[in-house]
Amino acid sequence: ADDMLHGSEKLVLAGQIAVGLAHEIRNPLTVIRGMLQFTADRIKREHYELILSELDRIGLIVTDFMALGQQKAPQLRPEPIDAIVEETLQMVEFQIKKDGIRIKRQYEGAEIVYGDRNQIKQVLLNVLRNAAEAMPQGGFIDVRLRAVDGRQRIEIADTGMGMGEEQLERLGEVFHTTKKGGSGLGLAIVKRIMDAHGSRIRFESEPGRGTTVVLDFPIHPIRRLSYPFLSS
Ligand code: ADP
Ligand code: MG
Repeated sequence: ADDMLHGSEKLVLAGQIAVGLAHEIRNPLTVIRGMLQFTADRIKREHYELILSELDRIGLIVTDFMALGQQKAPQLRPEPIDAIVEETLQMVEFQIKKDGIRIKRQYEGAEIVYGDRNQIKQVLLNVLRNAAEAMPQGGFIDVRLRAVDGRQRIEIADTGMGMGEEQLERLGEVFHTTKKGGSGLGLAIVKRIMDAHGSRIRFESEPGRGTTVVLDFPIHPIRRLSYPFLSS
């Protein structure tokens, strides 16, 4: 009770320290990475590559950590969900195709949701990135849009390695990753944004068969007049 800082102030301070720390780590990382290039011909190729990939892993953790710490309250606005989804898919489709992955769109119902466009895109990017990373041999990503029980559903299904019970239970854990270059923060960012939107996320998965991520967003009462992105 005599604490100088109250609970919420402590949290804000912790967030500020985290973001400041992340910034401070990033600068020396950039210097080390730059200097390493000059040393490339004097050390073993495997060592060089290991150092580089570990540096990049730290970089990714720092980037994701900052995204988590800097998360602002969402600016909720009526937004057409199909436009957001389509914009995001177009951002990743080129790279994803090169990895031997095809995206299939099934837009059965696309409403106006009440959300923050950039934050929803961040959610979709993280989920799509995980889907692609689950299919190193290539495969399919199904993106389905439909309205269910007055909510906008987005399903993102992959044909990747899937997850067992134990792995599914660990999904909420921060820094838990099964990837060599992973940060284990992607889903923490997703979870945080979904909570702030009053939205739900659910995972269905089977080892060796694939994973479906189900996202449900609140629909805005404005009804839309046309469906410009609905495929025929
Ligand atoms: P990261 O991608 O950096 O590992 P995430 O928080 O995005 O961190 O994901 C945590 C873990 O959840 C992953 O390492 C992986 O084991 C599992 N995971 C998430 N999405 C999928 C998916 N679509 N298929 C299989 N495993 C997944
Ligand atoms: Mg991820």
